[in-house]
Amino acid sequence: MTANNPAKVVTLKRAGRDQAYLWHPWIYRSQIAQVSGNPQPGELVRILTASGRYLGTGYFNSRSEITTRILSRQDIAIGRDFLETKLQEALAYRRCWVADTDAYRLVSSEADGLPGLIIDVYGKIFCVQILTAGMEVLREGVFGALRQLMPGYAIYEKSDAFSRKIEGLEFRTGWVGEPAEGPITVREGKIRYGVDMGGHKTGLYLDQRENRFYLASLGIKGDVLDAFCYEGGFGLHLASSGAKVLGVDIQEEALRKAEKNRELNGLAADQLVFKAANVFDELKAMEKGGRKFDLVILDPPSFVKKKDAIEGALSGYKEILLRSMKILKPDGLLAVFSCSYHIDDTLLLKSSLSAAHDARKTLKIIRFFKQSADHPINPFIPETYYLKGFLFSVTSLL
Ligand code: SAH
Repeated sequence: MTANNPAKVVTLKRAGRDQAYLWHPWIYRSQIAQVSGNPQPGELVRILTASGRYLGTGYFNSRSEITTRILSRQDIAIGRDFLETKLQEALAYRRCWVADTDAYRLVSSEADGLPGLIIDVYGKIFCVQILTAGMEVLREGVFGALRQLMPGYAIYEKSDAFSRKIEGLEFRTGWVGEPAEGPITVREGKIRYGVDMGGHKTGLYLDQRENRFYLASLGIKGDVLDAFCYEGGFGLHLASSGAKVLGVDIQEEALRKAEKNRELNGLAADQLVFKAANVFDELKAMEKGGRKFDLVILDPPSFVKKKDAIEGALSGYKEILLRSMKILKPDGLLAVFSCSYHIDDTLLLKSSLSAAHDARKTLKIIRFFKQSADHPINPFIPETYYLKGFLFSVTSLL
C-alpha cells in the first residue's frame, strides 16, 4: 500500500491548460501520453508533465475514464502518515465549521483531497464509503488512521455505490470490527433522527442541514408543503418551530421512518402529516382542490446524472415549480433545490423564471442556498459544488 516514489509513471500529453495543472485531481484517459510500469487498478503512480516535470502522485485505474486521481502534489509517500494528516485536516475543518449536531460528513472525497472516500459520522459511528479501486487499496490504512485519530468509534462500511462497478469492484457492506449496539439516534439542532444506514446515501441527507436550520429559523407558523420529504428532514424542523406541515414522498419506507422521527421528537400527528404520493400528481391534485401553502419546499432527487438528460430534468423542474407557484398563498415562499451538478444555479434560475412567467408571478430572491459546510466546495473542482437552491418570495403580477 505504501509507496515512496512509486516506480509506475503516468506521463501527460503536452497540453498546458489541462485542469490538472490548476489543482483539479482528475486526469482523463485522453490526457495521458504514456503509462509505464504496468500499474494495476488502484496502484499508485507518479504523474509527470510532458516535459518530465513532477506534477503529483495519485492512483491509477485503466478501467475508468478518469484514469488517474491525484492525491498529493508533493513527492511524498502515500501511506498511513499521509492518511492521518489528511483525516486530521478534515476533522479540524469540521470542528471549525460544523455546529450543533453529532451527524456530519467528516470526509467528502475530492473536496477533502481524498478522492473516492466518503466518511459520515453518526454519533459514535463512522459510515465509510469506498468508491474507487485506488481508495480500496488504501482501505486498511484509512481504517487504521481513523482508529488512531478518533478512537472508540464503530466502523460500518457501505461500499455499494454504482461507481464501484465501473472501477471493477464488488459491493461490500457491513461492520468492520465490533458493531455498534442498538438503534442509532442523532441530533441536528433540536431535532432527533433515527438513522438507518441502509437508507439513501449513508442514511441521512446531511448536505441539507444548514438549509433546514435556516428555513426553521424563519419561524413560519402557517402551512408548509415539504415535497420530496424523505425521512422528514425539513418538515420535522419546521413543525417543531410551529408550522403545520405536509410531507410528501413516493417511498413508503422513507415515510415510515419519517413517522418514527415525528414520534421521537414528540410532534403531534396532525401538525406533521406524511403522505405517500408522486409529487407531480399531488401538486396537480392540490392545484385542482384549491389547497394553499405559505411555504413550498421542492427538494427532488437528482433528475439528471448524465449531461444528456438535462432537457428532461429541466422540464420536470419547470412543471413542479409552476404548480408550486399556483398553490402558494399571496406573497408565499418557495424553496427549490437542485442536487445535480449538471443543473447549476443558472439553469435552475432559468427554469424558475420560465415557470413564474407562465404563472404570471414575479420573484424576489430571499436566499441563495448551497450544501452545508461539511460537504466543502473546492472551486478548483467545480464538481464539488453540486447542491444549490433559491428561496423565492412569489408575488402575483398586477
Ligand atoms: N429533503 C430530504 C431529502 C430528499 S431526497 C431531506 O432533507 O432529508 C429526494 C426524495 O425524493 C427521496 O426520498 C425520494 O424517495 C423522493 N422522490 C423521488 N421521486 C419522487 C416523486 N416523483 N414523488 C415523490 N417523491 C419522490
